[in-house]
Amino acid sequence: MLPPFPDPPRWLLACGTCAELLARYRAGAGGRDRAGTLSAESDLSGHLVAAHLAELPGYAPGCPTCTEWQAGAAHASAATLALADSDLRHRAAHLFAPTLTG
Ligand SMILES: [Zn+2]
Ligand SMILES: [Zn+2]
Repeated sequence: MLPPFPDPPRWLLACGTCAELLARYRAGAGGRDRAGTLSAESDLSGHLVAAHLAELPGYAPGCPTCTEWQAGAAHASAATLALADSDLRHRAAHLFAPTLTG
């Protein structure tokens, strides 16, 4: 059983690309299309990082993956941080995907 889906913010729903990718993500997540859901999640997270960087949330409290990224970031150089967008993509997914608390 999945944790609840968050309500995406208004600006996300107002963006045509976000809305389209979110619809794809939700269509997959509602059914059994795991590959389609993962591909839509990756596309939407990537778009959020590329187009909405200033709006991305901080680390989510209680999320084990956020805790890991945050600990890693504390020891990484500025150049490494600039190159590592997995952290950002993960946080972007908190805008629309359930938080898996393990
Ligand atoms: Zn967008
Ligand atoms: Zn997280």
